[in-house]
Amino acid sequence: MERRGFIKSLGAGALAASSLAVGPKAFAAKAEFKWKMVTSWPKNFPVLGTNANYLANNIEQMSGGRIRVKVYGANELVPAFEVFDAVSRGTAQMGHSGAYYWKGKHEASQFFGAIPFGMSGQEVNAWLYYGGGMELWEELYDKFNLVPTATGNTGAQMAGWFRKDINSLADLKGLKMRIPGLGGEVLKRAGGTPVNLSGGELFTSLQSGAIDATEWVGPYNDLAFGFYKVAKNYYYPGWHEPGTTLEAIINKDAFSALPDDLQAIVKQACKSANMDMLAENVAKNNTALDTLVNKHQVQVKRLPDDVLARLHSLSLEVVQEVAERDPFSRKVYESYINFSQRAARWTDISELAYLKARAL
Ligand code: CA
Repeated sequence: MERRGFIKSLGAGALAASSLAVGPKAFAAKAEFKWKMVTSWPKNFPVLGTNANYLANNIEQMSGGRIRVKVYGANELVPAFEVFDAVSRGTAQMGHSGAYYWKGKHEASQFFGAIPFGMSGQEVNAWLYYGGGMELWEELYDKFNLVPTATGNTGAQMAGWFRKDINSLADLKGLKMRIPGLGGEVLKRAGGTPVNLSGGELFTSLQSGAIDATEWVGPYNDLAFGFYKVAKNYYYPGWHEPGTTLEAIINKDAFSALPDDLQAIVKQACKSANMDMLAENVAKNNTALDTLVNKHQVQVKRLPDDVLARLHSLSLEVVQEVAERDPFSRKVYESYINFSQRAARWTDISELAYLKARAL
C-alpha cells in the first residue's frame, strides 16, 4: 500500500525514468555496439528463429548491454539466401543461417552444414571443437571477411514429407523434391529432381503440387509449417542431414572492432546457442511427433532398406567428388572423413551399442 501511494505521488516523467532504472533489461553499460543480425528464417520461427533471438539476448545480457543486437527475419532486411553476402559486405554485422546454403560461394562450405550419411550432431561438434573443423571453417570464411561459429544443431532430421509412398527406388524417379545441398545432388543421381526453396515457400509449393516432396527439419519445426495438411507420408531417417550445423556468421571488421572481452562473449554466446538448439530439438520433437501422429493422422514410415543403401552409396560418391573440386575442399574432406571414421569406431560401441541394447 505504501508503495502504491509512493508511485501515485510520482509524476509520469519520474515514473518512466524510475522504471528504466530497474528490471531485467536495465544494463549497467551504455550500448557501445549496435548490431543487426539477419537470418534465413521467418522471424521468431520455432527453434531456428528463436535460436537467433536467444543468441542476441545472450550477447546483450552477457555484455551488460554493451552490445545490442537487433534480429531480422528473412526478407525484413535481406532475403533468406542473401544473408552471407549481407554480412560479408557489412550491411549487417551478424547472420544466422546454414553453411550448406553457400556452396555457390565455395563447395567446401557444405562440410560445415550437412553431409549425407555423415556424422551425427554430437560427432560433428566433436570434430568442430576438438578435431580441427572450426579452424578449417575459419580459414574458409576468412576469404569472405567473415568469422564463422557453429550456432545450433538440429540433430538427426526426418527424410521429409511425401505426397506419395516411397516403396522402391523406382518411386524416386522423377520425384520433384525440395532438398538442398549435397542431399539434393544425391537425389538427382537417384533419378529425382532436387529444388532449393526457402522455408517460407515450402507449404504452398507442396500444396500446389509444384513439388512432390519436401524435407525441412524434424517434427517440431515441420509441425509449425503445417506440412501435414498437404502430405500425410512422413519418412525417416534423415539420411541427408544426420546432424546439421547452423551457423552464426560475423562480419570480420565488426568482430575485430570489439575489445577482447566482448569478442569472447560473442563466441561463447554462439557456443551456448549451439548446445541449446540440440537440446531444444530433442525435447520438442518428441511431443510434436505425438501431435502429428495422434492429432493429425500423419503416417510415419521408414525408407526401405534398398532405397537407403542406394542413397548411401551415391552419397559417398557425391561427397568424394567435392574433394576433387579444389585443394581446400580436399583438405576439409580429408579432415571430415578421417575424423568421422575414428568417431564411428567409438560411437559404434558407445552410443549406438547402447541405443540398440535399449531397444531390445
Ligand atoms: Ca533439412
